[in-house]
Amino acid sequence: MFDAWLDAAREADWPFTEDYNGMEQEGFGRSQWTIKNGRRCSAAVAFLRPAMRRPNLTVETNALATRVILERTRATGVEYARTGRLHQASTTREVLLAGGVFNTPQLLMLSGIGEADHLREVGIEPRVSLPGVGKNLQDHLSVDVHHARRGRGPFHAEMRLDRAAVNMARAYVLGTGPGTVLPSRLHAFLKTRRELAVPDIQFLFRGAPARAYPWFPGITPAYEDSFGLRPVMLHPESRGVVRLRSADPAAPVRIVQNFLATENDVRTIREGVKLGRDIASRKGLEPFRGRETAPGPACRTDAEIDAFVRRTAITAHHPCATCAMGIAEDAVLDPALRVRGVEALRVADASAMPDLVSGNINACVLMIAEKAADLVLGKPPLPA
Ligand SMILES: Cc1cc2nc3c(=O)[nH]c(=O)nc-3n(C[C@H](O)[C@H](O)[C@H](O)COP(=O)(O)OP(=O)(O)OC[C@H]3O[C@@H](n4cnc5c(N)ncnc54)[C@H](O)[C@@H]3O)c2cc1C
Repeated sequence: MFDAWLDAAREADWPFTEDYNGMEQEGFGRSQWTIKNGRRCSAAVAFLRPAMRRPNLTVETNALATRVILERTRATGVEYARTGRLHQASTTREVLLAGGVFNTPQLLMLSGIGEADHLREVGIEPRVSLPGVGKNLQDHLSVDVHHARRGRGPFHAEMRLDRAAVNMARAYVLGTGPGTVLPSRLHAFLKTRRELAVPDIQFLFRGAPARAYPWFPGITPAYEDSFGLRPVMLHPESRGVVRLRSADPAAPVRIVQNFLATENDVRTIREGVKLGRDIASRKGLEPFRGRETAPGPACRTDAEIDAFVRRTAITAHHPCATCAMGIAEDAVLDPALRVRGVEALRVADASAMPDLVSGNINACVLMIAEKAADLVLGKPPLPA
């Protein structure tokens, strides 16, 4: 099927790219994954576990950081809750926050670092005025273009309960076989307008429905096989915000995504749907293509597509930029990831990104962490 997608792309005159993380991002290309020995490799597996034996490392799990301890404007440690008690960890060097796009701004605000009026609203005494904390939230919005599949594909066959069980056991024990492969082997990065400097739409391809489940004759009926792609809007103009609901560190924050707040964003994702439908209707996919199930044949006009987007679009899980680094005065972090107005406090996570990149962001977060390590160690920048 993924070869058929490539045929469809050629037919529509889209380029192929050997390595979308290399010199040329634009085009259709084979997916790249963070995988080692047949398993998805998390940051903890790749970086933390190899360092666990170091004598200068202590990892406390099931611990909730509740605030950064400040002496005047210098960070001297963190307070955290564990097993029902509050603890403190102190430092003479620096504190590094990596709580992610929602919890790093939460922790800063709980510590009195943020927009003074908002902090007072929830009963927190402002310590350092930094109005940008929690603002500038950006995320990739995505929507489904989906077809029923003629006949059933190989992934469907592997999802029969007995085969799925063997596949999973084999994947866990040996790291091989169908259980190690996602039914999504292709990515595309496209420009909705030729004059754009970078792609503004990504396609995530799927050779199976999102709700595929193990089935077995006489026990659980098989699901209808289907396939599709998700257009993702890469560079939204809309900005959201993360706010505190209360001064309680255990209370969830309020997240306002504010998707589709500008005309351009509405237009871009609409164009993504149209491009997705165009590719899916090409001859290359004929042997597989059944009826369109999303947006569906009743959805034709721009207004109907916009309504479909508003009804069904979801995040592609790439929120970032709520403690944006930069050189402007309203940036939360300076270019060395230091929190402005506070000494000895850095951030190294997705919240530090000033802007969204044209693709999935995990590799960028790892890069930020690597760079932060170099900055802490005082290493000079790499050669250009
Ligand atoms: C469902 C899903 C699928 C995704 N798929 C992809 C993908 O395929 N490719 C890709 O590139 N990206 C993907 N992403 C995005 C990627 O996972 C994130 O961008 C990345 O993990 C962000 O890293 P981070 O270090 O900023 O935050 P996180 O990975 O969220 O790490 C923050 C950590 O801090 C902890 N924490 C938070 N607050 C506190 C506190 N107060 N005290 C103690 N600990 C705290 C959290 O428990 C968490 O472990 C996906 C995300 C999701 C949610």
